[in-house]
Amino acid sequence: MSSGPVRYVRYLLFAAVGLALFFFVSRSALPIPETIGSKLNPSNYKDTSTSTSSSSSSHGNAATSKEHTNGVPGNGSALQGERVNATFVTLARNSDVWDIAKSIRSVEDRFNRNYHYDWVFLNDKEFDDNFKKITTALVSGNTHYGVIPKEHWSYPEWIDQDKAAKVREDMGQKKIIYGDSESYRHMCRYESGFFFRHPLMLNYEYYWRVEPSIELFCDISFDPFRFMKENDKKYSFVLSLYEYFDTIPTLWDSVKKFMSNHPEHIAKGNSMGFLSDDGGKTYNKCHFWSNFEIGHLEWLRSKEYLDYFESLDHDGGFFYERWGDAPVHSIAAGLLLKKEQIHFFNEIAYYHIPFTHCPTGEQLRLDLKCHCNPSENFDWKGYSCTSRFFHVNDMKKPAGYEDES
Ligand code: GDP
Ligand code: MN
Repeated sequence: MSSGPVRYVRYLLFAAVGLALFFFVSRSALPIPETIGSKLNPSNYKDTSTSTSSSSSSHGNAATSKEHTNGVPGNGSALQGERVNATFVTLARNSDVWDIAKSIRSVEDRFNRNYHYDWVFLNDKEFDDNFKKITTALVSGNTHYGVIPKEHWSYPEWIDQDKAAKVREDMGQKKIIYGDSESYRHMCRYESGFFFRHPLMLNYEYYWRVEPSIELFCDISFDPFRFMKENDKKYSFVLSLYEYFDTIPTLWDSVKKFMSNHPEHIAKGNSMGFLSDDGGKTYNKCHFWSNFEIGHLEWLRSKEYLDYFESLDHDGGFFYERWGDAPVHSIAAGLLLKKEQIHFFNEIAYYHIPFTHCPTGEQLRLDLKCHCNPSENFDWKGYSCTSRFFHVNDMKKPAGYEDES
């Protein structure tokens, strides 16, 4: 018979073994993902609270933001290496919440769960609590919510609003896509000239634009932000196509006026061959599809880009026509950057209605666990401008492209 102290030691031993067994069984029966695991780690408790970030306090009422971190950024896995000063950015309405939730899920599953980059949400109206709650729960990095200052989402004083209203009516009757929409025009002008100047964006160097209802089809096995920085890339795309001419009849005239007023801004070794088939006389309507973009914010904030935007803005085509931010960004990238500074990401498989970029190359698709149908890849089809991009840059098309054209 064991006496007092020995019995207590035995009880304690039983209890310890029992607890260890319980932990073993519960963890092995239900695998816990790495990111949640780090949330459960007490040393990270302080990071999971929701608090007002320093950026909002310094910017007054223009922006409200929530800071929310899961785990310790930059600390998670050996694979991720050094992070870049970068953020995702989404312009959205409160009503877009479930469509953007789907996009975030895709971006997180395929990439950001390993990196925890921040996400900035911008809106011309205040985001409601539901939008903030749902998106904050899905993003693995910090989330920030900003209201767009009125002067960035309204008519400049030089615009004749009656003339603009008449244009909307005419374009609506002609059934030009978004031709009758006033808000779409403010959106395009905002994406062209202002999002990168929002107070919440000022602290970042690179951005990745994400729209509602997009999909990513392959794992992203590297950090595209880091790729951009290490290779001095300023702008990147996955899909390119021809613009609908009726939305931009005088855009190229406006661009030519800018080029003659600012020849000093036009880069040597630019991509004019991507934009024009006659050395710059006319625009061939090729543009990068800007609902996906990874780019350099400091380039957009440069004197070259701002002079370009202001020149176009004064010509009024955002309201008197329906200039899209895609041709506006693309022409800027084509003329103000050296051609090597624009990058095509074959590895990033992407869908935005109605086009798909599914990487060319079967082994690549298998390695990256892609679930897109390669026959839906738009790159080598007739209405894509990506072949032209390859030609202008003397790039060899990936093996297997013939089967997809
Ligand atoms: P599409 O891709 O050209 O058909 O245009 P979308 O409807 O996707 O709009 C482009 C982006 O701007 C999306 O991220 C939308 O959520 C956003 N957006 C469009 N209109 C508005 C608007 O009036 N207010 C806000 N806050 N966002 C808008
Ligand atoms: Mn869209």
